Amino acid sequence: MSNQNSHKERVLVVEDEADISSSLAYALRASGYEVLVADRGASALEALDRFLPDLVLLDLMLPDMSGIDICRRLRKSGSPNQPAVIILSARAQEVDRVVGFEIGADDYVAKPFSVRELMLRIEARLKARNAVIGTAAQEAASSQKGTKVYTLRNLRVDESAHRAFVDDKEIHVSALEMRLLLNLLRAPALMRTRRELLTDVWGYHPEVASRTVDTHIKRLRDKLDTAADLLQTVRGVGFRLADPAIPPGQSHDSDSKNIAPSEHPRRKDFQDGKAR
Ligand code: CA
Repeated sequence: MSNQNSHKERVLVVEDEADISSSLAYALRASGYEVLVADRGASALEALDRFLPDLVLLDLMLPDMSGIDICRRLRKSGSPNQPAVIILSARAQEVDRVVGFEIGADDYVAKPFSVRELMLRIEARLKARNAVIGTAAQEAASSQKGTKVYTLRNLRVDESAHRAFVDDKEIHVSALEMRLLLNLLRAPALMRTRRELLTDVWGYHPEVASRTVDTHIKRLRDKLDTAADLLQTVRGVGFRLADPAIPPGQSHDSDSKNIAPSEHPRRKDFQDGKAR
């Protein structure tokens, strides 16, 4: 756990409701984190530079500023060591979740929330962030050995540079979308279940069920633009990339039969991306 580490991981709590922020600060300190509370947007922005948090718990409705603006500003800086961001909001509608992910939040928790579940999510986010930073450092160290580039039809992903291109035009994907893409690219035709993706990409215990995977797949597919049909939904099961061995436009019949025979009559679902 974090209290065994040589340095404590830092969590910035941006929340104007004192009873919520104090109970969060208490629970976080008890779990071994170093905590700073900001009850205004202005003090949160200052704390981001001064306190350099590893993770930010961000309330959306602040007296002087929207949490959305704080997250946007934070992500604009483009620094590789950015904190993970978990949005806390009473506005639990789907539209807010989508906005949250769009502006670069890593997770979204609706109020009222279970502190215990939130602590698990914080732990998972920090683990995933450390993995990304570790990988980036490793890649930087071994960059002389050459780059790792994956190509699937008109999609090209340079793992070492963390850049993705469709038809040679760069598309801007978040760190999480890049992990998702790389996870699928390592074995394009292999179907990955939501569970597997949650465990491998998000670092969640699969019991923390969520529609997070679907939301990110949809966003990623939108960004893939003309390569969107490469990212296929296996209805009710999971996701995969197009089989490089099958030329574009050719039927995926035999493939579909193997994976989910009962769904064969609705095989157009297997090419979800194509229908868009
Ligand atoms: Ca508030």
